[in-house]
Amino acid sequence: MSMIYNPQRYKIEDLPGQPFLDADEIWGYIHSTANPSPNRVRQVIAKSLSKQRLSLEETAVLINTTDPDLVEEIKDGARNLKELVYGRRIVLFAPLYIGNFCTNNCAYCGFRTGNSNQLRTTLNHDEIVAQVTALEEAGHKRLILVFGEHPDYSPEFIAEAVRTVYGVKKNHGEIRRVNINAAPFDVDGFKVVKAAGIGTYQVFQETYHPEMYKQVHMGGKKRDYNWRLTALDRAQEAGIDDVGIGALLGLYDWRFEVLGLVRHVNHFEAVYNVGPHTISFPRIKKASGYTINPKYEVSDDDFTKLVAILRLAVPYTGMILTAREPAHIRDEVLQFGVSQIDGGTNIEMKGYTLAGKPQDLDAEQFEINDNRSLREVMAELIRKEYIPSFCTACYRLNRTGEHFMEFSVPGFIKRFCQPNAMLTLAEYLEDYATPDDKQKGYRLISDTLEHYTDETFKNKLEERLERIRNGERDLYF
Ligand code: SAM
Ligand code: SF4
Repeated sequence: MSMIYNPQRYKIEDLPGQPFLDADEIWGYIHSTANPSPNRVRQVIAKSLSKQRLSLEETAVLINTTDPDLVEEIKDGARNLKELVYGRRIVLFAPLYIGNFCTNNCAYCGFRTGNSNQLRTTLNHDEIVAQVTALEEAGHKRLILVFGEHPDYSPEFIAEAVRTVYGVKKNHGEIRRVNINAAPFDVDGFKVVKAAGIGTYQVFQETYHPEMYKQVHMGGKKRDYNWRLTALDRAQEAGIDDVGIGALLGLYDWRFEVLGLVRHVNHFEAVYNVGPHTISFPRIKKASGYTINPKYEVSDDDFTKLVAILRLAVPYTGMILTAREPAHIRDEVLQFGVSQIDGGTNIEMKGYTLAGKPQDLDAEQFEINDNRSLREVMAELIRKEYIPSFCTACYRLNRTGEHFMEFSVPGFIKRFCQPNAMLTLAEYLEDYATPDDKQKGYRLISDTLEHYTDETFKNKLEERLERIRNGERDLYF
């Protein structure tokens, strides 16, 4: 179906803290760009490769591309952009579930209040320490803490959990960056959490479609679409400029959700002059008492295509993929510019100290599809010549807007991100790797070093690598 579409008619002004999404506008772009010519598709890809953000209309052109050869060109474009902008570095993190009490009733989530089968727990101080110790023993340096929405999980409670995590030091192990995925607060609440030294605050809109949003959020505070939509505006107002957005794919039409995400990025840029740090696009998975609606289920083909489209649409935003996806899908979309993945994930409450136990959907939020240990994920990345990174330097040096720097400051990746990836990889190889992985990892580091032509910088990097071999830790540029 096509229609005459006038964007001016729909445009909502972007104002701080104000809802910004018009469903008719989004559908308007999808309908008005149906059947794009190959020429138009190539023009849009070329614009992105010149490192310019795509408009909603241009993104819709890619969304409406169905010819398999042109879809391949979109994927090639994303591969090229990834090489151009991000190099071969992949940041690793792990989720840690702190509490699964919840007063909301989200149809798709095992934690929903109406699910009486769910075993509810909140980790106490000692239990958090035990989980973090296990994560540090595997080699993790970056965590995301996850919470249900419940009066017990106040900003003060979350801030205390963050401080507890930062306080756990096991041998050379320590967590250097704690991100949060929790219900949104008011501005004062966000300030409390910020003061504990969090990294990114992540809140997913789940679905950007207002009516579907109401249908699937059947009870609790989360029913309020606009409170959720403006959550990260309040975080910004509280001084948290490092935020992550996301859509839960499978609740509504994926084409709408992709444009919803891009619209959200536009809003941030218009109001705060900085986009979100990361975008997440989890595909919905089976959960206790929930089966996926086949009407909106996202196929592997559509999923891989949409990841490539997102890469081209918002070239400088970090993209997160989680263990919800099986290894073969991860492998494909890593090439399109996913910049962060989790490794050795266990989403069962207290799961990191229950190694090897099969998943119990009554004790966790949803089913995961990648059960590999961090060691296995690291070995695989190294084999494929990606440089796994645990780097937290920008966050700790207050280099804000780091994602923008990576993208726009010439040589930033080469001078900062890649060397820091190598330094954190060397720490991992020294402290946690098998002898075989260690040898392969150091070979990857020395192959990468060969591409450095600036001898002074190369010497500095080699000197730091040597210091790590001699037992020093936490060195970065
Ligand atoms: N309670 C907070 C909230 O709703 O924002 C925070 C965390 S919730 C535990 C984390 C995210 O998990 C949700 O935002 C949702 O996108 C995702 N999630 C929930 N159910 C899921 C399912 N069945 N499959 C995949 N992801 C799911
Ligand atoms: Fe609660 Fe979040 Fe799950 Fe909804 S998605 S039921 S708010 S934990």
